[in-house]
Amino acid sequence: MIFEQIRHGGCLSYLIGCESTRAAIAIDPELGEADRYTTLAAEKGLRLRYVLDTHTHADHFTASRELGRELSIPVVMNKKSAAPFVDLRVEDGDTLVVGSLRLRVLETPGHTDDSLCLVLPDRILTGDTLLIGGTGRTDLPTGDPNALYDSLFGKVMSLDDALLVYPAHDYKGRSHTTIGAERAQNPRLQQRERTAFVELMRGLDIAMPQHLSEALRTNRTGGKTVTQLIAEAARAIAFMSMGDLKDRIESVERDLVVLDVRERDSFRARHLPGAINIPRGELELRADRELVDPTARIVTYCEYGKISTLAAHTLRSMGFLRTVALDGGLDAWTKAGFPVAAA
Ligand code: FE
Repeated sequence: MIFEQIRHGGCLSYLIGCESTRAAIAIDPELGEADRYTTLAAEKGLRLRYVLDTHTHADHFTASRELGRELSIPVVMNKKSAAPFVDLRVEDGDTLVVGSLRLRVLETPGHTDDSLCLVLPDRILTGDTLLIGGTGRTDLPTGDPNALYDSLFGKVMSLDDALLVYPAHDYKGRSHTTIGAERAQNPRLQQRERTAFVELMRGLDIAMPQHLSEALRTNRTGGKTVTQLIAEAARAIAFMSMGDLKDRIESVERDLVVLDVRERDSFRARHLPGAINIPRGELELRADRELVDPTARIVTYCEYGKISTLAAHTLRSMGFLRTVALDGGLDAWTKAGFPVAAA
């Protein structure tokens, strides 16, 4: 077996090939890296036969559709996946044949309802179901801690201790682990009681992925990179100059909402005077409740002016029709010597 792990930040994707037939499968490919899979396959003398996503990703953009189209190979996902571009929908117990390799599908809902793991004789690709020293989160769309409990304790952890575990994420540079090591050390797996596990998962307070809505939209419908989405959003909204915003912040009747869409910690450290904070990833969930007045003048900003462009576009699409984005970001604002505040 030819087994290549491809790292993109904290995301891990895989290229698995059969030595004798040279057939291969790409798993969880990343859109920004699409060429890397085809180049690597060519280098290894492999021919890609399938491309598969272990689940609908909320934190990065899948290259499955592009690779599938470019190479005329089927895109494989769980039968429950919402993406219309999936060619081959699989379910529990199905086997994918890649040359002489057999990849058995294990449906493991929890992180998302369409999560699956792939089992090979000596290893398992766990997607975001089981991570090294962790598990996938269950607070994003279609996530369910009860289902994750069943998937982990009822399925994954019933496998052989010696099985190597290759997850879809690791932010600490580690490549893999084993079922046995996770059974012994993974803090979340120490909560063997369902209620304790579910409570633990519900109590986690993790920031929303910055490009949550764009990633979900793209991965479910096929499509566009962040750069393309930002360019499109920029054409669909208006901006406010830094000078204008500074004047309006300093004026007595400041009839506008200054909305910081960066993460909480960045906001606490430094923000525009009088700004409120809703991180970009939480906008859809919180805007209606917290911004209230759809006729208000809202100006969004972030560090460099890109995320705020997407945020303003989102708010407009939600009916906050007077939303504009700051032309520039807090970085430029600070360099210009304009006033900032800290929490
Ligand atoms: Fe995920």
